Amino acid sequence: MRTAPRFDRGHTDDLMSFLAASPTPYHAVASSAERLEKAGFRQVEETDAWDGTTGGKYVLRGGAIIAWYVPEGAAAHTPYRIVGAHTDSPNLRVKPLPDSGAHGWRQVAVEIYGGPLLNSWLDRDLGLAGRLSLRDGSQRLVDVDRPLLRVPQLAIHMDRSVSTDGLKLDKQRHMQPIWGLGDDVHEGDLIRFLEAENGIGEGEVTGWDLMTYSIEAPSYLGRDRELVAGPRMDNLISVHAGTAALAATVTAPGAADLPYIPVLAAFDHEENGSQSDTGADGPLLGSVLERSVFARGGTYEDKARAFAGTVCLSSDTGHAVHPNYAERHDPTHHPRAGGGPILKVNVNNRYATDGGGRAVFAAACERAGVPFQSFVSNNAMPCGTTIGPITAARHGIKTVDIGVAILSMHSARELCGADDPHMLANALAAFLQG
Ligand code: ZN
Repeated sequence: MRTAPRFDRGHTDDLMSFLAASPTPYHAVASSAERLEKAGFRQVEETDAWDGTTGGKYVLRGGAIIAWYVPEGAAAHTPYRIVGAHTDSPNLRVKPLPDSGAHGWRQVAVEIYGGPLLNSWLDRDLGLAGRLSLRDGSQRLVDVDRPLLRVPQLAIHMDRSVSTDGLKLDKQRHMQPIWGLGDDVHEGDLIRFLEAENGIGEGEVTGWDLMTYSIEAPSYLGRDRELVAGPRMDNLISVHAGTAALAATVTAPGAADLPYIPVLAAFDHEENGSQSDTGADGPLLGSVLERSVFARGGTYEDKARAFAGTVCLSSDTGHAVHPNYAERHDPTHHPRAGGGPILKVNVNNRYATDGGGRAVFAAACERAGVPFQSFVSNNAMPCGTTIGPITAARHGIKTVDIGVAILSMHSARELCGADDPHMLANALAAFLQG
């Protein structure tokens, strides 16, 4: 008899640690792997030959992680149950020649990643984190977790029209952070600084993927602390809940008899269309699942049978009804913070959910004892999308779009209900347990 794990506010406390420790997709997959290792998962290299042993394994590739657990009793054609998510968030990323400045200010040249609410990046103390590639072929995660950069907003005295016409920001001219004083701009300054900060020899760094982030720690908010404010909730809420649900599923009694192979698939590059070797529109997930079938002695027929019986819950954030803009939402579908996970529907396949998918999610929520809410866009508003339709179309896997309703999506600091993350984790665990 399998017993469902129960997550509570302790899960939300852990989410806040996860958010703080994961300023970039590379850090997010490291945070996920660290928790999975504690649950007995072991990393496998894509370049090695795979064997058919049972237990928990994971593949790391850049900002993506695929983790899966082969139960003792699994056959080659045993279907998968997948929790899908994405690790990336909109932000400001360092350009190839970052060292710039003017009028006595040193600046770092940045490119805009995805669709951030640009205003939310103004006048925030920013840290700098990412991945350095070294001359010897190795890579290092780095994180300068202190106030290092800032994009200063123009004083209102210099532009009174912000009060009447709203703030207008030019992505090139107005979003370049300052990081010090000085007139001489030396090419290589920023990278030399990062080498020194991280004890790396001068000139050893030959490549980088660096991004800025708000250093303000996540926190509970509200009269009764019933909300959480923090960065990158879209979509680390789902990466964290999926990690916790998978770890709990494989460490619960009865894991050896699971009827499915539970999987966590967290991808990079959702915010700009998922088309990369670590994005949902690449071959990564299909390749891992297929290799697992073949490593267990399966045939093409076994793979086809396994995929045909597989279901993916694509978990991502959605929009809670905003009290100041309720007219932008559908008049009768009003997801609330604190109301439990959301099921996302769009008949034009911006979300992959259909009636059968709804039934799978409803059953998981019922087993978990959590309520769920329905999200659909106002017909006059464009609908967002997720990795759900991509996963369904690319791999032919039945997919259901779900998630957590938040406010301020794509802000440098978003807002959600403090109980929704653990309700999501309970629903995901019930789903993975079949
Ligand atoms: Zn998202």
